[in-house]
Amino acid sequence: MDTTPTPPMADTAEARRYNRIRRWLGMADAFVGFALLVVLLVTGWTGELRDWSYHLGGQRYFLAVFLYVLMFSLIMKALSGPLEFYGYRVERRYHLSNQKLGAWLWDELKGWLLGLALGAVFVELIYAIIRIAPQRWWMIAWAVFIGLFLLIVQLAPVVLFPIFYKIEPLNNDELRERLTRLGQRAGTRVRGVYEWKLSEKSKKANAALMGIGRTRRIVLADTLLQNYTGDEIEAVLAHELGHHVRRHILKSILTQVAITLFGFWLINQVLRFALGHDWFPSLDPRLYDFANLPLIILVATVLGFLLMPAMNALSRRHEREADLYAWENIPAVGAFVTAMTKLADQNLAERTPSRFVEWFFESHPSIQKRIAAAEAWARNRQPAS
Ligand SMILES: [Zn+2]
Repeated sequence: MDTTPTPPMADTAEARRYNRIRRWLGMADAFVGFALLVVLLVTGWTGELRDWSYHLGGQRYFLAVFLYVLMFSLIMKALSGPLEFYGYRVERRYHLSNQKLGAWLWDELKGWLLGLALGAVFVELIYAIIRIAPQRWWMIAWAVFIGLFLLIVQLAPVVLFPIFYKIEPLNNDELRERLTRLGQRAGTRVRGVYEWKLSEKSKKANAALMGIGRTRRIVLADTLLQNYTGDEIEAVLAHELGHHVRRHILKSILTQVAITLFGFWLINQVLRFALGHDWFPSLDPRLYDFANLPLIILVATVLGFLLMPAMNALSRRHEREADLYAWENIPAVGAFVTAMTKLADQNLAERTPSRFVEWFFESHPSIQKRIAAAEAWARNRQPAS
């Protein structure tokens, strides 16, 4: 095999601009959310929102909690909606989206309703637990959160994902055969490979490993299946199989378990400190006053933001492991390299983001690094001839 390193390709101005806009949009969205939480707390408007909720809910506590979550979520959507619409326009402008405005709005509505339903269930549970066990609520809430989280990970591929995308078992004997062979060599078996009908919405290509237990599966976007050779698709399949074999979903879940335990402990500490020192006069000192919800979300948001580089570093490590697994299990890394090159072009990815951008924002190593690592691996394995 030819192992001359692929020369680094400079990113086009278009790719740089597109990725810069996307990062700014992400940060603006996070800032808007952060600002809303701070404003609600500092102005005391969260207290007024709570009073309206009681009034509209006929003084019934759990109905009032729901109405509070509903109003909060409407305000949040009103603020972030324009940014999301701009994000949609950007995808259209860079010819990465096929979606008509109506279909996009329909997806937005479904996403908002799903978020509201999940958020409302969880917030109701938190305040029910606070009322029952005001001292140890944070530990119980953490256990309940983990239970719900596992349920969502399991149901995601069969219930949540199909709300937005059509997905069906892969109808391609040659590819199924290749996956079976890959799995046999690894002594493992993935229950299913599914075709993800991404092309009706997007021109980008993607693949993923999803689910736990019986819902574990590999999904391949039809945009990938249409434009890549059998060898290239096998390289992508081998990468996803690598995530499965190296138990990356389990490892990510265990990381979440540890971080959320710390998170709930921290929320309890901050709540008690802030209420004890009367930081926000509109909040009742009793913990079950749901007007303190913005403070709970604020602590969780700040913690999530601070941990982002660490979480992304863990994810990049998983990606490197899955890549190594792929190179070891495909006939030649050339197909991996061309698949990566095609993916970068098709998705308008930055091949060489700045070091800061990669460290802070990226869940995958840059395409340039992945290609260079694959070629270095192939050179080291083959004695020079
Ligand atoms: Zn991966």
